[in-house]
Amino acid sequence: MSLRKPLEIPVYKHVAGRKLLDLMVEADATLSTFDKLIDVLTELKVDIYSATIVRRGDLRSFEAFIDITESPLTLEELKKRVQSIPGVKRIEVAEEKLPGLAVRSFSYPLVIEEQPVVLIEQPIWAGFIQEFKRTYGSGALSILYHVGYQGGVVQARRWKPFIKDDPRRGIEALLLIAKAMGWGDIQLDEFSGKRIAVKVFDCPECAFLRGVAKTPQNQMLRGFLSGLFSEILGWEVTFSEERCIAKGDQYCLFIHEVKEPNKRQPS
Ligand SMILES: [Zn+2]
Repeated sequence: MSLRKPLEIPVYKHVAGRKLLDLMVEADATLSTFDKLIDVLTELKVDIYSATIVRRGDLRSFEAFIDITESPLTLEELKKRVQSIPGVKRIEVAEEKLPGLAVRSFSYPLVIEEQPVVLIEQPIWAGFIQEFKRTYGSGALSILYHVGYQGGVVQARRWKPFIKDDPRRGIEALLLIAKAMGWGDIQLDEFSGKRIAVKVFDCPECAFLRGVAKTPQNQMLRGFLSGLFSEILGWEVTFSEERCIAKGDQYCLFIHEVKEPNKRQPS
């Protein structure tokens, strides 16, 4: 069963007609300090859209998009009240940048497991792919595939030492990471000595062409999957896209027919 509950990444928040702020509170590492913080904000009629708590050594940092439209206090009064909570070391507030818009202001860069991450919103990503294909035609398709392939190899090499002798489990974990990163709802559909099949629902690379293309449209994820499987399994895997949401199918389907009987096969 596929999970369809979006994760809102707290980068910015826009709610027309409301007064939104980015609030950062640094406190000791005791979690109960944040209990008190939530109680105080609730008492002051401050709503919280989203919040993160991150531990760094002896301190924890709380950053949240808050809505102070209904609060009877001024911003200065609110800051003083939060500052008076035992355990709170520092409070910073970034006021709204446009009417109703708060932008995360107290943490940079974005990281996952200490590795910097770049987020690209779908319209910008779609524009990049479309413009690249329009300018370079079939050359773009090949470049996108090879760029994706290299990405798959890099990702597989990073995790290979932890995969040991259960390639299927390792591949499933890496597909789940790719899904969590937003590359589509990716599922390993078949993993046998004859065929490897991967289903992808809502693939971002094809979604913006949903139902309007005559042929499968995916290159980069197809390359990524090919590189990832090849590196983990130790033999060449080249996926072809047999179904695609861009040509009206329910999902994108990537197939590799196993042809090398003498090489190591999936079990
Ligand atoms: Zn597709």
